[in-house]
Amino acid sequence: MSSKLQAPRGTFDVLPAGAPARAAVEAAAKSILEAAGYRRIETPMFEQTELFARGVGEATDIVQKEMYSFEGFSLRPEGTAPVCRAYLEHGMHKLAQPVKLWYLGAFFRHERPQAGRYRQFWQVGAEAIGSEDPSVDAELIVLLHALLGELGARELRLRIASLGTPASRAGYRELLQAYLREHSDALSEETRKRIDLNPLRAFDAKDPGTQRVMEGAPRLADHLDQDDREHFAQVTDLLARAGVEWQQDDRLVRGLDYYTRTIFEFSSDALGAQSGVGGGGRYDGLIEQLGGPATPGCGWAAGVERMLMAAEERPQPEPGCDLFVAWESTERADAFALATEGRRAGLAAQLDLAGRSVKGQMKQADRAGARYVAILYPDGTVLRDMDSGEEEKVERSGVVAGVLKGRHAL
Ligand code: ATP
Ligand code: MG
Repeated sequence: MSSKLQAPRGTFDVLPAGAPARAAVEAAAKSILEAAGYRRIETPMFEQTELFARGVGEATDIVQKEMYSFEGFSLRPEGTAPVCRAYLEHGMHKLAQPVKLWYLGAFFRHERPQAGRYRQFWQVGAEAIGSEDPSVDAELIVLLHALLGELGARELRLRIASLGTPASRAGYRELLQAYLREHSDALSEETRKRIDLNPLRAFDAKDPGTQRVMEGAPRLADHLDQDDREHFAQVTDLLARAGVEWQQDDRLVRGLDYYTRTIFEFSSDALGAQSGVGGGGRYDGLIEQLGGPATPGCGWAAGVERMLMAAEERPQPEPGCDLFVAWESTERADAFALATEGRRAGLAAQLDLAGRSVKGQMKQADRAGARYVAILYPDGTVLRDMDSGEEEKVERSGVVAGVLKGRHAL
């Protein structure tokens, strides 16, 4: 017995009915980001595993358990490290800085599938590389805010914090580690195991005991340098100037190691457990980590599926049909030629491809939403206006011009 073949667990097909909403996300991202000077970049679906080990961080969940790896390569779990690799590889530091790029594509993470969490999902992302100015951080946040607004995402919340620089963070890290060790009895097994490698992750723990401990934990915000504090204040001032509401959340943890200073996340209370819609931050150490010169950068990524889930469902226009060519048995070649002529003239044109009776073809034309139907009989041609129901005898050579004229008259 053969078993039924199915799409792999955690993946999904985008069927024709679902395609227009996704195309609308792409169109909105393109128009909003390109109007601000971001240009599209595409990177490969897989990269050397080492890129993610170095760029995302050995200690992260992504690298430790979520990558699909084979023969030294990994399917890309995120877009920032690949974009930074491309920036370096193509010498983009020679261009005017910051270099502003955006992308949309599929990403892969081996996680437990659940609502809003897939093993292949799509992200829109934006990166601005080469400037540490706080206006870069603010611009990126404002643009993601605009995109989410354009898509109609509901009940949005923007949380923002500063992670400081590696220097200010190092001292704080030790403090936090000491605090966690002191309370290790009350911590979850998982958090305890991460004290050495990734203590900040404890703020993200779901376990109630750990959460209680974390309420009294020292906060990074209280241990930032003067420069970091000022940078953060400037970012949030610019957000206020743009009318974007935000709340500071010192427990915000992002899943990637490379962040410095600003980190942020948009979530939607309209979603369930997987409420994160998009987020990002500044990564001033990343390019150096990848072997390049010290180069600041900042960016975000937002999940296409989560954005659509957070958005009000909107009716999407069906593709139209200006002309349907119906034909009786001997007229196939003429019908085919007429449909081709119509398409070359810019019409949305279809013809029967299944050998239906003329009556069956009229039904098919109706299903296709055809505006006009040309019916090709051996002894002549009839053009039917599907709105008024009027029919007239026409010359075959005049059909396309007639439909074009009728379309303009609308
Ligand atoms: P989460 O907290 O949900 O695990 P994350 O912090 O891992 O998210 P990022 O790496 O910041 O997410 O990715 C940015 C966005 O990509 C998320 O806000 C979310 O919208 C989307 N995303 C991340 N992982 C998945 C997934 N497995 N399936 C669908 N969308 C995802
Ligand atoms: Mg995750």
